[in-house]
Amino acid sequence: MPEDKDLSKMSDMMTHYFTVKQDYPDCMLLYRLGDFYEMFSEDAKTCSRALGLTLTGRSCGLEERMPMCGIPAKALDAYLPKMIEAGFKVAICEQLNVPTPSNPKVEREVVRVITPGTLIDASLLDTSNNYLACVYKGDDTLGVSYIDISTGDFYTYQLNEDLSLELNDIFSTIKPHEIIANSAVQAIEDDLPISKMQLIPAFGYIDDKEFDYESCRDLVLTQLKIKSLKEIGCENKFASIVSAGVLLKYVRNTQKRDLSHINKLALLDIKKYMQIDATSRRNLELTESSRDRTTKGSLLWVLDKTKTSMGKRTIKSLIDNPLLSENEINYRLGGVEDFVKNIVVREQMRDLLYNIFDIERLTGRISYNNLTPKDCLALSKSLKIIAPIKTLLAKLSSDFAKKINENLLTFDAIVQLIDSAINENCTNNIKDGDVIKLGFNAELDDIINIQTSSAETLSRMEEAEKIATGIKNLKIGYNRVFGYYIEVSKGSVETVPYRYIRKQTLVNGERFITEELKNVEEKILNAADRKQELEVELFNKIREVLLGEVANLQKVSKAIGMLDAIVSFATVAVEQNYVKPIITKNNTKLEIIGGRHPVVEKILKRDFVSNDTIMNNDDSRTMLITGPNMAGKSTYMRQVALITLMAQIGCFVPAKSARVAITDRIFTRIGASDDLMFGQSTFMVEMAEVSNILHNATDKSLILLDEIGRGTSTFDGLSIAWSVIEYISKNFHCKTLFSTHFHELTDLEGVLDGLKNYKIQVQEYNNSVIFLRKITRGCANRSFGIEVASLANLPEEVVERAKIILHNLEQHDLNKDIIKNNCVDNGEEKKMAEYRKGLTQVAGILNDLDLNTLTPLNAFDILIQLKNYIKKD
Ligand code: ADP
Repeated sequence: MPEDKDLSKMSDMMTHYFTVKQDYPDCMLLYRLGDFYEMFSEDAKTCSRALGLTLTGRSCGLEERMPMCGIPAKALDAYLPKMIEAGFKVAICEQLNVPTPSNPKVEREVVRVITPGTLIDASLLDTSNNYLACVYKGDDTLGVSYIDISTGDFYTYQLNEDLSLELNDIFSTIKPHEIIANSAVQAIEDDLPISKMQLIPAFGYIDDKEFDYESCRDLVLTQLKIKSLKEIGCENKFASIVSAGVLLKYVRNTQKRDLSHINKLALLDIKKYMQIDATSRRNLELTESSRDRTTKGSLLWVLDKTKTSMGKRTIKSLIDNPLLSENEINYRLGGVEDFVKNIVVREQMRDLLYNIFDIERLTGRISYNNLTPKDCLALSKSLKIIAPIKTLLAKLSSDFAKKINENLLTFDAIVQLIDSAINENCTNNIKDGDVIKLGFNAELDDIINIQTSSAETLSRMEEAEKIATGIKNLKIGYNRVFGYYIEVSKGSVETVPYRYIRKQTLVNGERFITEELKNVEEKILNAADRKQELEVELFNKIREVLLGEVANLQKVSKAIGMLDAIVSFATVAVEQNYVKPIITKNNTKLEIIGGRHPVVEKILKRDFVSNDTIMNNDDSRTMLITGPNMAGKSTYMRQVALITLMAQIGCFVPAKSARVAITDRIFTRIGASDDLMFGQSTFMVEMAEVSNILHNATDKSLILLDEIGRGTSTFDGLSIAWSVIEYISKNFHCKTLFSTHFHELTDLEGVLDGLKNYKIQVQEYNNSVIFLRKITRGCANRSFGIEVASLANLPEEVVERAKIILHNLEQHDLNKDIIKNNCVDNGEEKKMAEYRKGLTQVAGILNDLDLNTLTPLNAFDILIQLKNYIKKD
């Protein structure tokens, strides 16, 4: 920003540029100058570097030229994604008028600000939701709201501050592209979840003044067109409303328009869904693989056979939010079953869904006012498919099918309007013309007639002029600068009549105009202007009609999304041979017969070996699983968790049969990974995760602990693993799958309540191992670490040497009987408490003893005292 004194010397345009820039200091300001968007000063320097644009300069009234770079206005769509990806916010300052001789001043104004969390352009979005989130930290509550302005999805949570872990979980699920917050959030910066949040590139603090309850509440009420917060169940949700209000303010300030499709705010209750913390989500690879963070290799990858963008967003959200209500789960399962059984209906439904465009985002564009003529055609095409979908649904009997059918409204009037109005061959830009069909509007028809008849008039005129002048190669033409003209070649110029007025001289000829041609030109150009104006007018009227249907279109979009997701579940169920799980709420039994891991099975196809799981919350609640590396322990444990989760999202499961008790939380501690970004070592991460489990598990949870204690020395590790399993067994009645290399722990069967040993079978063959992948009762007697290492092609010499070392170590097995020597059952524990008391007293006596003053007499005395204590205890 130049100094004030410099500003006064600058051209009007540059002064205006810097005045606007002052209001958007954190944005790249794209300033429209004719056919280009220009950037100046620091913006130009930064952006030219980031996007590889040529940095030039422009004289601006000062001695030095102002640094400048620009992008062609037509190429905005191509550059915006790059700018957003580079982490910029972009403010677009448009030219509002076309300067005329009488009014040469160009008005410019920022018409919208594009930030990573407020994308709406199709070119900037993929099919998934693009959320902008706001966190408000009040005195003792946190309000978290998030919105996707392209679809109108708008949600809010109110959390107690001590639920900061949930905050992290929310963000790891919805993955916002931008977060805004109040300054109090900064104060809890050291808190892990918050600092993780700050890693999101677009994280920014908003002025605390904006977070005032009254203005936020009023804005929420106005936006949702409701009278009281009671209508959305938010009357006591102070923090939620503040965060939702600030989001709306931010959206309004950046988008600068009224967005009527944002008309609902859903208050979410974390307790309504199965809770899965961020680590467990990652470990279970629900929606992305932990290896490369893409969908491939995740549960979503297996289950997503959806045909529409709405279905894709819905199925992801279903996987992210498993249900806890038996009725809701069974409602979905009923829908899946209907489509599994009715093959023809399912296949026809998939064909129909395939042709439906993203109605939800089209609706967003209606409200945003950037709907294109082609969007209208896509909308009409999609809406026409609703009727046949309803016919198919009517053939099904489940409550799900009935409910979806009810929610699928038809839009005959809209379809008819669009079909009668919009030309099938239109472009995406209304200004290109020929958007409105003949026969839709009488005035437009007249204009089109004038245009066609004028074209005929021109060709007649050309013929007449040829005859009148005798110039055979005379022709009538048009260009944008000179308008219509009669062109005569050089050789014939001398013979043109007096009425020809010279307009332009060319190398090979001359161009003329006549009075008559001028009249026709005026008519044609007027008609073209009016046609463009009228087409825009008519299109806006159509948009207004559509605007009145926004809420209904949203309802239908949601219904189609859900239908598509459930049809997808059914399709996968048939293709992968899944079964309908039986959901039990009051019974704690988990019984999976012939269970398979949905992802590993898909990759391995027929080679996958199925396994059973039978657990309850009493005598079989802990499975202690041993077996060599690579035997399939992790796969088995995840399979149990995934089958439970799949059942609770209302999906069929990969098994012969399954009875699933509703689980409130799934915890996993699987594999070892350094969280270097947060300066935590593998072991520290492992312990933090275990601590989270021990603090938050309930009797209805499912815990997977995969080789905990591996990241430290053997004795440390064994002790930790042991005390953790002991703690879980004593404090919870939840189901736990615990895999370990510490074979000593298998001695805990019979000692710890509800613990049973399992092993994954392997067969020794020719100094190597064959993995049988079958889980059975019992414990592995060896780890086969060296054999597995040899399978991994470790040099022969290393393998042989390892065998010798192992043999030597086994000769001096320090761990032998370690468990038995340490085990304490409840009765023994009482005795131990007494022992401890006695020994403390003895230690006290010994401590007080002054050896220098010890005489034979008092030494004897002390010995007697000690003897008494020892005898007594
Ligand atoms: P562990 O945890 O015992 O080291 P994993 O569960 O990681 O072993 O399994 C190692 C590999 O074995 C998997 O990547 C998979 O390819 C294969 N595998 C695991 N379970 C099965 C199974 N039930 N059937 C067939 N192959 C399996």
